[in-house]
Amino acid sequence: MRFDILTLFPEMFVSPFAGSILGKARERGLIDLQVHDIRSYAPGKHRVTDDAPYGGGGGMVMKVEPLALALEALAMPSEAGPVILMSPQGAPFRQEIATELAVCERILLICGHYEGVDERVREHLVNRELSIGDYVLTGGELAAMVVVDAVARLIPGVLGNSESARADSFAAGLLEYPQYTRPQKYRGWEVPEVLVNGNHREIENWRRRQSLLRTWRRRPELLAGAELSEADRTFLRELEAAEKEDRRETRPGR
Ligand code: SAM
Repeated sequence: MRFDILTLFPEMFVSPFAGSILGKARERGLIDLQVHDIRSYAPGKHRVTDDAPYGGGGGMVMKVEPLALALEALAMPSEAGPVILMSPQGAPFRQEIATELAVCERILLICGHYEGVDERVREHLVNRELSIGDYVLTGGELAAMVVVDAVARLIPGVLGNSESARADSFAAGLLEYPQYTRPQKYRGWEVPEVLVNGNHREIENWRRRQSLLRTWRRRPELLAGAELSEADRTFLRELEAAEKEDRRETRPGR
């Protein structure tokens, strides 16, 4: 898959995508990451990329022309594939969106900066806006890196073990179960017995229940969208009942 990133700060992308899993995926040709300097598409001797906002107010706004020219030069009209503006006003980026994007041949991401981009970029040049959370960053670069990382790891062959992506949090709508590795005992802290007894069916059951328990405790709203078996639902009902009982027992006056 090819990722094109439009940014005013291309140097920010060098180190995060040089090493580890994504660095190896690039070496193996599984992903092609092309980072483009928006300034090099800005017309005029001074290659100006931002200007003061119409109507006044503080800060600078990124101009529409350099971005329009960059998109033309990269032959990426918005009908060709996702042309994504990173924006705190965009749709919340979630695992389902990463999964949807992971089947595209090419994705283009635009990183805003300063006060953001001229509204005509939104209106005419992009077909999607993504936010990585309800907070404001100084620029879209870190947000674009988050999207590239989350999408790239879903491309077949990028992760050494494709099983791990399937069991990850959010992949099936639940949080992942707890993981342990050697040593079996450290400072008296022990690995749950079930994980070392070699009974794969018991391990699978324990993991599923831990996954449900964690999601129920930490992100109960995810349960509504998760695929649940009858056994899962029974387990969740038991958790609810145990909690109700606990509350009843600790009620003042008892
Ligand atoms: N004035 C804008 C607003 O209030 O919506 C915020 C501009 S922000 C300082 C500059 C750039 O950072 C944005 O154009 C966007 O590209 C990026 N950015 C900031 N927060 C983001 C977030 N939560 N998700 C994605 N991109 C973000």
